[in-house]
Amino acid sequence: MIFVDKTGCVGCEECLHVCPTLAIIMKEEKAEITQHKCNECERCILVCPVKAIKIVPAHVN
Ligand code: SF4
Ligand code: SF4
Repeated sequence: MIFVDKTGCVGCEECLHVCPTLAIIMKEEKAEITQHKCNECERCILVCPVKAIKIVPAHVN
């Protein structure tokens, strides 16, 4: 899954603009990914200037 590390996010909204599925919304000036809309294209990871978007394997216990 792809998620935003909110402590790192600076609220620039770059990720929001490149997301093809409109999965990213801003909440209290931090990006948040709506998981069921995300297709894991990783575009948001590439554009985030502070590397606040992380990817982790979906099925780890
Ligand atoms: S990985 Fe792709 S679909 Fe998922 S939130 Fe990022 S840009 Fe949107
Ligand atoms: S691109 Fe990165 S810093 Fe900018 S809003 Fe998205 S997660 Fe936050």
